[in-house]
Amino acid sequence: MERISLGNTVFEGSNNSYLIPGDQLTLVDVGVSTDHVRSDLRNGIEAAGYEIADIDSIVLTHWHADHTGLAGELQAESGATVYAHTADAGLIAGDEDAHFAETEMRAQRFEEWGIPQESLDELTDFLSILNDLMGEDVDVTPVEDGDTIPAGDGELEVVHLPGHAAGLCAFAFEGNSGREAFIGDAVLPKYTPNIGGADLRVERPLATYLDSLDRVVDEQFSRVWPGHRDPIDEPAERARVIAEHHRERTGRVLDVLSEHGPADAWTVSAHLFGDLSNVHILHGPGEAFAHLDHLVEEGVLSRDGNEYALEDADVDADALVAVPETKR
Ligand SMILES: [Zn+2]
Ligand SMILES: [Zn+2]
Repeated sequence: MERISLGNTVFEGSNNSYLIPGDQLTLVDVGVSTDHVRSDLRNGIEAAGYEIADIDSIVLTHWHADHTGLAGELQAESGATVYAHTADAGLIAGDEDAHFAETEMRAQRFEEWGIPQESLDELTDFLSILNDLMGEDVDVTPVEDGDTIPAGDGELEVVHLPGHAAGLCAFAFEGNSGREAFIGDAVLPKYTPNIGGADLRVERPLATYLDSLDRVVDEQFSRVWPGHRDPIDEPAERARVIAEHHRERTGRVLDVLSEHGPADAWTVSAHLFGDLSNVHILHGPGEAFAHLDHLVEEGVLSRDGNEYALEDADVDADALVAVPETKR
């Protein structure tokens, strides 16, 4: 398996595309649709001794443009079958209804969160640039948890890990170190993947994501290959650290409300993250919202209009965010 690093000046850091040689030449994730990334990917495939036309399958971890942008044009050139989870298939395909529903939801959430006009204008510009990076429409073959996809000389098993995106999937395989997986942005080496803002369609984003972190632990992967940066050799431990991070953040959200009184998601975000620009105008209040929403569901906060208030000043974040136990 070859890891092809794709430069990416739009989001933080570079993206990984993975090439699996064999009977079914397969690409996992493909990067944004820009000239720069296009040539990175072509060069990587050629350096491995193949051409675009040789690709049999393209497997996509989730719908974000930095993972899917080039899929349409690669499919047009190679005739490859493109696989993605059912929940993300419409957005990847370029389906108008799916995009319309997502845009409507954005408008509603941005108003609820209380994003001020100036920041909203900046975010709108950023999102329209992002939209162009989605590239050409794709004919998607939808897959579900537990499905298998032929890849290389073996197969990939679909492991649905919703949270960062509704259709985010890991693809598990028998690797050099044991059971390994391509894991997209479900767990990343340095960052805590954004939830709440990265895919507005995810219901109960924090609880959904925490369940997926549990699943990562249960799957006992010996190594995972993320959408960004280097492979992770202790995925269960990394999942535990990320859950721990969310527990701390829940504690900070409770502190903000206790110190400053009732607030909307934007205000809580400003206390947590300070001033925000470009995609962070989406990710900051989205992350705050994921935590606020969780605390409402847990009965700790009440929501009045767009503002959240503490119901009980004496709550313990440890009881509200489960952190999986891992064997070290
Ligand atoms: Zn993503
Ligand atoms: Zn990503």
